[in-house]
Amino acid sequence: MQDVEGYVHSVETGGSVDGPGLRYIVFVSGCPLRCLYCHNPDTMKMKRGKKTSAFEILKDVASYRTYFNTGGGGLTVSGGEPLAQPEFLKTLLLGAKKMGVHTAVDTSGYLGTKVDDELMDLIDLFLLDIKSWVPSTYKHVTGVELEPTLAFAKRLAELKKEVWVRFVLVPGLTDATENVEGVAKFVASLGNVTRVDVLPFHKMGENKWQDLGMKYQLSTTESPTPEATEAARDMFRKYGLNVH
Ligand code: SF4
Repeated sequence: MQDVEGYVHSVETGGSVDGPGLRYIVFVSGCPLRCLYCHNPDTMKMKRGKKTSAFEILKDVASYRTYFNTGGGGLTVSGGEPLAQPEFLKTLLLGAKKMGVHTAVDTSGYLGTKVDDELMDLIDLFLLDIKSWVPSTYKHVTGVELEPTLAFAKRLAELKKEVWVRFVLVPGLTDATENVEGVAKFVASLGNVTRVDVLPFHKMGENKWQDLGMKYQLSTTESPTPEATEAARDMFRKYGLNVH
């Protein structure tokens, strides 16, 4: 296996929301989406990240191996968009699999065609963000088309890969019943989604947008109430899904 360098924003150890158990998380930089609520806008441009050797990261991952084995965790590659650097991703995951470490990739699915069979085999769990169902809403929220994400989700279902779906609930933007129910119905039809996370919108990234000189369009949008978040979760439950 040859080393590959990739653009990395940061790494975090001990994360507990990006996959099962305690995770070693690599946040890569570079993302083709422009989500209005992105809380890591500094990961959007690839070259803003630091060029990093996959082998160096793997050395660090190796030092956490015992900890993964006892805690049931593993390596998660998040971002940014991990599929924007497929060779770097492949090297990281291949190294992790050689060590017997569980692997997860957090993706919007927009670049799903970059996942070849070899890369597919190296990923134990996909954390797939389906940001909306209504195509015009998806485009408004992310700046790109919805279809590639749906096509990728269907491909994962055909291959029976394990998927956790994430959906961010933003008042006035993604919370229309038609939008939430559309995602719920679609996800339920796939048959391979073992968990859904409905995440209430928050403005934690707003300062970063300002620091980067980028206009944050959701300054006046409030977080959803706990009741509204629970109602959205209930919609997914109504379709028989396991919701967190
Ligand atoms: S896909 Fe993720 S990293 Fe990319 S813009 Fe959207 S929220 Fe930000």
